[in-house]
Amino acid sequence: MTTMPFDALACPLDGCPLAPSEKTWRCENGHSFDVARQGYVHLLPVQKKRSLDPGDSKEMVAARQRFLNAGFYTKIAEAVSNQVLQWLPSEGTGSILDAGSGEGYYLRHLASLAGARDISMIGVDISKWAVLAAAKQDKQTRWV
Ligand SMILES: [Zn+2]
Repeated sequence: MTTMPFDALACPLDGCPLAPSEKTWRCENGHSFDVARQGYVHLLPVQKKRSLDPGDSKEMVAARQRFLNAGFYTKIAEAVSNQVLQWLPSEGTGSILDAGSGEGYYLRHLASLAGARDISMIGVDISKWAVLAAAKQDKQTRWV
């Protein structure tokens, strides 16, 4: 079973705690970040973007998905997932953050092996295309 606590995220503009809700995440100073229709939240402020389309392009994400879905990295994903599961607490919720999660390949793999364990996962990537692809494939993980 997976849950989504990860309520300790900070506002990228002032560092105040973000309060997630179904449609909008807000900080106490009124900054708000809408949850996209696909379920991800964009937290990179326009003034902090260093390019119009930071991170991997749509084509790069699609190419990576084709490669990963061909199974070349399945053994690596299994090894990483088994190590992560080994280090999670045996009771309560285990929290996992994948920084640079791309299109979510490793978190999806981990979730598929987690069984009844209670885990909370968040995937973070600078590429909106990667986060979009991840959110389309996995509604259990928070994607930002
Ligand atoms: Zn704020």
